[in-house]
Amino acid sequence: MKSSMKLIAGNWKMNGLGANLTVVETLRAALAADRPACRVALCPPATLIERMARMAGEGLEIGGQDCRAETHGAFTGDLSAAMLKDAGATLVILGHSERRQGHGESDLLVSAKAEAALAAGLEPIVCVGETLAQREAGRAVEVVRSQIMASLPLALTGRGFAVAYEPVWAIGTGLTPTLDQIEEVHRAVRAAMIERLGLGVAATPILYGGSVKPDNAREILAVPEVGGALVGGASLKAVDFLGILRGA
Ligand code: PEP
Repeated sequence: MKSSMKLIAGNWKMNGLGANLTVVETLRAALAADRPACRVALCPPATLIERMARMAGEGLEIGGQDCRAETHGAFTGDLSAAMLKDAGATLVILGHSERRQGHGESDLLVSAKAEAALAAGLEPIVCVGETLAQREAGRAVEVVRSQIMASLPLALTGRGFAVAYEPVWAIGTGLTPTLDQIEEVHRAVRAAMIERLGLGVAATPILYGGSVKPDNAREILAVPEVGGALVGGASLKAVDFLGILRGA
C-alpha cells in the first residue's frame, strides 16, 4: 500500500535553475535501472515543477515546498495548491521550519494549508520540530506533540499524507540527534497523530529530516517509526540522493 512504503523526499529549497535538471535525468535513468524499495520525490522551486514533472518518469514524484491556504485572489507572489497540482505536483511540503520561522507561519496556518492541499488533491508533508533551546530545555517531545495536535487538520483522517520530524538545529548543520533521540520523538509523533486522527494513521509515514546524508541514511532509516526522510542539501546532487535511496 502506498502509505506503508518509506518515502524519501528531496527539498531543493531556493536552489535550482533549468540547468540543474540534469540531476533529474540522472535520477530517472538510475531509478529505471534499479528501482528502490521506497517512494521517491523531489520538491524543487515552483519555477521548475512543470519541467521536472514532464521529465520525471515513473518512480519519481514531484512536490511543491509551500502553498497558500486560499484557493485564489489578491495574494501577489503566492501560489495555490491547485496551481501546484496543475503544474504537475502530487505532494507539497507544509510548515517547514524555514517557513514557520522566516515567514511567521503558525500551526493554525499550517493546518489550513494542509486542508487546502487535500482539497486540491495534493498529499501534504507536514513538518514539525523543536529548536535547540527547546531541546536543551528538555521540551522536544512536548513541542512536537503540540505542533502535531494543532497542525494536522481533522480532514487528514483517512487521507494520504506524511509528517516530517525535523529538529530545527539539525537542518543544514551536519548535526543529527542520536538514533535513540530520533526514535523517542518519532514514537511521540505517532502517539500524537493517533490521538488526533485515530488508528487509521498507524502506518502513515513519519519522515526524519535534518542532515541526512548517504553515510547516515541507512542507520536512520532503520530506526523504528522512521518511515522515510526529508532531505535538503544532499538532494541537490544525484550521486548523494541516490546514496540515500540505497539506504532505504
Ligand atoms: C530540510 O531543510 O528539510 C533539510 C532536512 O535540510 P538538510 O538535509 O540540508 O539538513
